[in-house]
Amino acid sequence: MIWENRWHPLLERWVTITSHRGARPWQGAYASETSAGLSHDPSCYLCPRGLRVSGAKNPDYAEVFVFDNDHPAFDHNAPEPLPVGGVYQSAKANGICRVMCYTPDHAGRLSELSSAGMQAVINVWRDQTEELMQRDDIEQVFIFENNGEIVGVSNPHPHCQIYAVPFVFPSTKQIASAVSRYRTRQHADLFAAIVAEEEQDGRRLLTQNADWVAFVPYFAQLPYETWIVPRQPIATLSGASAASLAHLGQVLSQVLKMQDRLWASPQSYILSLHQAPKPYIGNHDFRFFLQIQPMLRGPGLQKYLAGIETAAGHFLNDGSPEEKAAELKATGRA
Ligand SMILES: [Zn+2]
Repeated sequence: MIWENRWHPLLERWVTITSHRGARPWQGAYASETSAGLSHDPSCYLCPRGLRVSGAKNPDYAEVFVFDNDHPAFDHNAPEPLPVGGVYQSAKANGICRVMCYTPDHAGRLSELSSAGMQAVINVWRDQTEELMQRDDIEQVFIFENNGEIVGVSNPHPHCQIYAVPFVFPSTKQIASAVSRYRTRQHADLFAAIVAEEEQDGRRLLTQNADWVAFVPYFAQLPYETWIVPRQPIATLSGASAASLAHLGQVLSQVLKMQDRLWASPQSYILSLHQAPKPYIGNHDFRFFLQIQPMLRGPGLQKYLAGIETAAGHFLNDGSPEEKAAELKATGRA
């Protein structure tokens, strides 16, 4: 079993080898066939009273439930890295991985939560971020949801993952360096410029309110990619007022419903909360945003990340963001 971070000397980023996770439970395709539509599945390890692989039994939770991942990719109890030499370097896979069930309803979906249910989820996202960011051994808290079998979700019970790590993820580093270069060259806030551009153009705007703007960005990498950006610069969810968090719930719910209404079947997506890591907390140019990356480009049509995306790191978007935003808007905002 090998579990450690290995440095990629050419891409200059860590790769985490987690060979122990190869045997983690997989209830994806199996569970969606056997428990589709059930609000409680006794064999589900995420349901209330469900039995987990660690032997722990879930409480009879009524709203949101968070627990330490039984198959963490990062953990402070990870083994010490194996000795290595030459250009190669390794590090312990330190960190904290948690699982967060959005609701006890096995058949639920984030898009279908009541406004109170959505608010509970957002409040726990904020609370978890605050708690984990207070730790000296954590630099970044990254929260994401893999939704749908094609994204590789191992259990259909509505849930997301919380990864708290002692380093900064590559995309975050790239965004941070872009906003700081823009500040140096243009003496301005790049996120504010993007929001202004989207509002002025208007064609890609999906919905907005006093605190948040949702749009398919001009530079979308995937056909129905959607961003939700706060009007005021906040670094993490901790920086948002209670009113602003309520407004985020409304916008997120509207946008997810648009994605689901496009076709007969619900959209599969990766939802991620891009929050500032510690080194960028005081830098107002790094703005929190929420990103939804839908993985279907048509009913039952999966967008495969193939050679050009996976190997070259270059995305081909098979739909114009203007047209895709119009399709989403046509589903209504209810
Ligand atoms: Zn369940």
